[in-house]
Amino acid sequence: MGMTAPATELAPPAAAAVGSLSPSRASDFLSCPLLYRFRTIDKLPEPADPTAFRGTLVHAVLERVFDLPAYRRVPAEAEALLEPMLAEVLAADERVAAMFHPPGDDAEPLDRAAFLTQCRALLATWFTLEDPSRLEPAERELYVEHVLDSRLLLRGIVDRVDVDPSGAIRVVDYKTGRSPGEHVEAKALFQMKFYALVLWRTRGVVPAMLQLVYLGNSEIVRYVPDEADLLATERKLEALWAAIARATDSGDWRPRPSALCGWCAHQDICPEFGGVPPPLPESRPEPPPPPAALSSG
Ligand code: SF4
Repeated sequence: MGMTAPATELAPPAAAAVGSLSPSRASDFLSCPLLYRFRTIDKLPEPADPTAFRGTLVHAVLERVFDLPAYRRVPAEAEALLEPMLAEVLAADERVAAMFHPPGDDAEPLDRAAFLTQCRALLATWFTLEDPSRLEPAERELYVEHVLDSRLLLRGIVDRVDVDPSGAIRVVDYKTGRSPGEHVEAKALFQMKFYALVLWRTRGVVPAMLQLVYLGNSEIVRYVPDEADLLATERKLEALWAAIARATDSGDWRPRPSALCGWCAHQDICPEFGGVPPPLPESRPEPPPPPAALSSG
């Protein structure tokens, strides 16, 4: 399987759907509607981010290590995958290459050796948390999608799905950062419940376990979902989509300042920082019909 670009592009929504949501875009809107607009409606480019790219590269190694026979899934073999995969991305992605060799003298180049050292440390941590020689994932980097009754397409990519002989499903997501505080952990679990909802609706089985593997501070967070959880997640997503529909209709995309602003690439055009957003693109999508109207139709 080839290495993906840092921001994984998803396929266009299915024809029957009126719109689509991934966990990332849902999280954008929940965090800041204006950020959602900049990313999803304006589709403004963002500079490559070394931290995000480190996560992408480590994820790619964790995916590919399962191509090796079980006895070779050891730290040294995983580390050996790093350099060639980095070279592969650098040759294919100018944005990433520019982080290591920025044009002009202004920007500080990313130190390749230090970057690889950080990646190796994350891989080493993974081997202390899980033993891949004893795991045979059912799926890796699995694209999942499901169209709700409201015709909202839910879609995303699950890092790993394990299925035991009894058919019990474990959904696994790797996080290359540290396990967060309660509020951010709720966001991570929301993402996992999103995947669990899609798997439940497409396979008819509520996943037995949602597992977040935090490589930044060597911690595993586990959560056992039930049907009530997933129904609540479905209702939350429908309500979120209705709020997105209202914002699309009115053009009112409110900024919601938070600690996230420190990482936002669009501060210079954000009213919270004295900026002015560009005019909305003319070809923006029609506002989706409200979910209630669709459900009854
Ligand atoms: S700077 Fe903050 S408030 Fe403004 S768009 Fe970005 S996240 Fe939203």
